[in-house]
Amino acid sequence: MSRALYPRLRLNVFPTPYCAGCGHGILLGALVRAMDAAELDWSKTVFVSGIGCAAWIPSPHFNADTLHTTHGRAVAFATGVKLANPALNVVVVSGDGDLTAIGGNHLIHAARRNLRLTVICANNRIYGMTGGQVAPTTPTGCITQTSPWGMEEAPFDLCELVRGAGGTFVARNTVFQIHKLIKNLTDALTADSFSFVEVLSPCPTHFGKLNKTPTLGDFYRDMKSAYIDRQRFDKLSEEERLGKVPTGVWRAKR
Ligand code: SF4
Ligand code: MG
Repeated sequence: MSRALYPRLRLNVFPTPYCAGCGHGILLGALVRAMDAAELDWSKTVFVSGIGCAAWIPSPHFNADTLHTTHGRAVAFATGVKLANPALNVVVVSGDGDLTAIGGNHLIHAARRNLRLTVICANNRIYGMTGGQVAPTTPTGCITQTSPWGMEEAPFDLCELVRGAGGTFVARNTVFQIHKLIKNLTDALTADSFSFVEVLSPCPTHFGKLNKTPTLGDFYRDMKSAYIDRQRFDKLSEEERLGKVPTGVWRAKR
């Protein structure tokens, strides 16, 4: 762990509870670095999370005010904090199941309202902490504990979902593309609007094991080849886009 991170963390709770190879520890470090790059005052920032592995990123690890709330309700609690004290920076960190299944309505209405919150969704494409159940982000055909013959439905495209609900700052990157991820997080934290960042973060324990990803290196290599800059993605033919996911920032005006 970098010494520069020490003052930002509650060192007495380390090491993190994350499994070997989990992406959430990388996201934890990226968010601390983005907070400092954005020059946000930690004493005027509240981190809010729901329930799940990703919800443990700020709470208990960050040396800051944190609200570890109920399943699916992180954005609702964050809305309350912001309305009570608009001067605070309010940052939500939670998982794909928490934010886009149980908490899906809170997410889309926060985007529609354009309240100045930052929502960071650690997307591991499965329910991790509860044992590997199917999520709205599970890709078609993938195995989970509750889709043993393969997911039959199409997954949500989270960035499209938030953009469609009115989100004006929307970004996607992976824990593999760390410098781009830190930049996306920094820009989201300083956006003058609701901002949403989807972060692909692998869960080798459930998603990897059930979908027989041979090694952790393969997992990260697959992510590198599938998640490509949106400028590059836009130049591909329909056929070439199969299996690829665009990354980067989408900004819109209201
Ligand atoms: Fe990470 Fe998955 Fe382990 Fe949770 S279960 S800590 S998401 S690898
Ligand atoms: Mg998940």
